This record gives sequence, structure tokens and C-alpha cells, in this order.
Amino acid sequence: MYEENEAAFCSALAQDLKKPKQEAILLELNLLKDDITYILSRMDDWIKPEKISPTMLTMFDQPLVYHDPYGVVLVMGAWNYPVQLALLPVSGAIAAGNCVIIKPSEVSPATAETIAKLLPKYLDKECYHVICGGIPETTELLKERFDYIFYTGSTTVGKIVRDAANKNLTPVTLELGGKSPVYIDDSVDLEVAVRRILWGKCINLGQTCIAPDYILCSKQLQDKFVEVARRVVEEWYGTNPKTSPDLCRVITEKHVDRLSEYLKEGTVAVGGEVDREQLYIAPTILTDVMTEEIFGPILPIVNVESAYEAISFINARANPLALYIFSDKHTLVKEMLSRVPCGGCTVNDTMFHAGVHDLPFGGIGNSGMGAYHGKASFETFTHNKSCLIRNYNKVAEMIGKMRYPPYSDKNTKR
Ligand code: NAD
Repeated sequence: MYEENEAAFCSALAQDLKKPKQEAILLELNLLKDDITYILSRMDDWIKPEKISPTMLTMFDQPLVYHDPYGVVLVMGAWNYPVQLALLPVSGAIAAGNCVIIKPSEVSPATAETIAKLLPKYLDKECYHVICGGIPETTELLKERFDYIFYTGSTTVGKIVRDAANKNLTPVTLELGGKSPVYIDDSVDLEVAVRRILWGKCINLGQTCIAPDYILCSKQLQDKFVEVARRVVEEWYGTNPKTSPDLCRVITEKHVDRLSEYLKEGTVAVGGEVDREQLYIAPTILTDVMTEEIFGPILPIVNVESAYEAISFINARANPLALYIFSDKHTLVKEMLSRVPCGGCTVNDTMFHAGVHDLPFGGIGNSGMGAYHGKASFETFTHNKSCLIRNYNKVAEMIGKMRYPPYSDKNTKR
């Protein structure tokens, strides 16, 4: 489906977000194809009942873990990567043997319609079903009893989904939002670091759940950062980034308004242009801090004097979805990694941890619960059913008969 309909997906993503083809292919379609290839090449092994090494207690038995599907699962996607987020969890759910109801985001309608039109042509209609709709339809859908719910979106709606799931004690994975701080110290190659940070910030016009959200660095480094960033933005997008074909658009006017408010809270060091009608905000660097998740092309810088101050600053706020540490000081990196609870982390780059199949992707605290990608997707949609197969071995029965009455103190001695 992804290969035969690349043009249709790219066109829908361009309609919804003006997503450039390169981003559509690399960050949505290829990611999905690679995940499927990875799962297909390993799922036969994952599915097999797992033999557990026997202990003294089970030496005559067969302890096994069966990997059962949950049953019918609901996958709800978000608008910012509308193909990837609606369908990436689905490959794991299918591999684990579940039936799936897919609910793409209504905020990216062209992509939702494309998924709804194409999926039934490729998958068994009895087992996999796409339901489109907005809040009323989703509210109705959530009244149904599912065996598992996998939700991607805002923390506020995540709580609504979990409340609905609770009514039936349905287990959930919640892939939510949250701030993703970047710490930079003076040991880095700033030319490379700035490019890697700005790439993470500018793709999808910053509307990426793990986009760098704010920078923590010293005042001296901030001045150099701004200088390099101004040059890099111009190198990538020209003197008027609004005319660049390589920048997405903000999803709705409501989000343009929300983001414009942030601009008033700081000093614009780079960018700052807003065009509400064109759903455009320029890649912008501010020299002040924000309090909420930004989810747009605005990057504030907060000055800290040390890594310890950065750690305290981050840990005084809700758990980040992602943490980015730019430093060549290995001890410091290890210290930060062990002291900051967060969903995931890339050191000396941004976003890349989310592209490694073997690394489970998910949040912690306010940024979510549960994880997926690669094997973690299979595990998410799998119930581990523990089974102990016993037999009528005479020695085992001799050893085990002490459990039967009449009870005696000698049976409890070790
Ligand atoms: P959205 O508006 O597309 O909503 C996500 C899903 O929730 C959709 O399927 C939508 O129909 C449903 N929904 C919306 N309101 C609802 C309601 N009141 N009741 C029931 N269902 C409802 O996306 P969004 O919430 O604007 O997503 C943006 C947020 O998602 C950001 O915070 C971002 O960080 C986060 N996000 C997280 C990840 C991740 O992997 N952790 C990925 C992408 C986005």
C-alpha cells in the first residue's frame, strides 16, 4: 500500500500540512515500511511460545509464556504525522494477532480520507477497519468496549481516553506531548550542533512531539548559537523562508494564534514573522522561556550556568518526552542521563532515538505511558500468558505431596 500509493499519500500530506515530499517519504512512508520489514523478519520468533528455564520447583514441568493477542484494539492517531501515527502501531497490533479499528485524526482530513480509502483494498475488511470523524464520533467510539486502546495526541485528550478505557478496565498506551529540552555546553562543535537542533525544530514546522522545545545554555553560548542559527536558517530556506518549498505550514489558524502569543513573551533573535492567512510562522529563536509545550517553529533559549542548573530546571517541570544533550563530556552526559527522567534521549543530535527499531518509544508521567516501535509494538499488543505444563512424574509428586493436609511444621522448615 505504501509503495503503490506513495503519490496519493504525499499529495494528502501536502494538502493537510504542505508537507514537503522528502519529509513525507522519509519521516512517514519509509518509517512505516522499515518498521514492517523489521517486524516481518522477526515476528515468527516473537510469536513462538517462550520456554522458561526450569528451577528446582519446575524441573519436571514445562514453564512457557504464550504471546496472545488482546483481541480488538483501537488505534487513534494525531494530525502532525497523520499517516505514521495512525498506522505505525497497527503493524505491531497485526503481528501480535489483533483485529484493529483505526481512527485517524480529523484535523488532517485529506490524509484520513486517503487511509480510509486505501486500507480496505490491502487488508482484510473483517479484521481491520478505519473510522473517520471528529470529537462526537470519537466520543461514541470510546463508549465501545475495546481490548486495548493505543492513543497518540495531547495530554488533555489522553486523560479523556484513559477515563473511557477505565470503564471497561481496558489497558492503554498513551503517546502524549510534553516539552523536550536541549542542553548544550561549550565542548560541542556548534556548527554541527545548531544544524542538528534546527533540523529537529524545523521539520514539520516544529509540529513534532519530540521536536526540541527549548534550549538551556550559557549566555556566551547563546550569542554564538543565535549567530550560527541565523546563518543556517538562511542557508536552508533563503532570505524569505515563507517562499521556501521545504517548510510545512501550521495545521490551523487556531494554532497560529496560540503560537503568536508565545512571540510576545520573549525577544525575537531570529525570524518572528507570522502570516495567519498563510498558516505561516517563520523559524524563530527567542531569548526567553515558555511554560507550555510549543509544538511549532519557535525555539526559546534559557540561560543556565551549569549542567546541574539545567538538570534542576528540567526536573522542576513535567517529565519531558525527549531530552537532548549536546556535550562531548562523557561523564557529564552519563550524569544527565541518570538524573533526568524522560521518555527517551538522543545525545549530540535530535529525534534519532525515535528512528531506531530496537529502542522502545514512549513517554513518562505527563508525556505518556507505554511504548512502541519494532519489538516494543509487538509487546504492547501482546498479552503474556504464563502457562505451567505439569505431568504425572512420580518423583515430582513425591516432592510435592507435602502441600497436602494433614499439615505439619516440618513442611514449612527450609
Ligand atoms: P488531534 O487533534 O489529532 O487529536 C488526537 C486524536 O484525539 C484524534 O484521533 C482526535 O480525533 C482525538 N480527539 C480529539 N479531541 C477529542 C475529544 N475531546 N474526545 C475524544 N477524542 C478526541 O491531535 P492533538 O491532540 O492536537 O495532538 C497534538 C499533541 O499530540 C501534541 O501535544 C503532541 O506532542 C502530541 N503528540 C504526541 C506524539 C507521541 O508520539 N508522543 C506524537 C504526535 C503528537
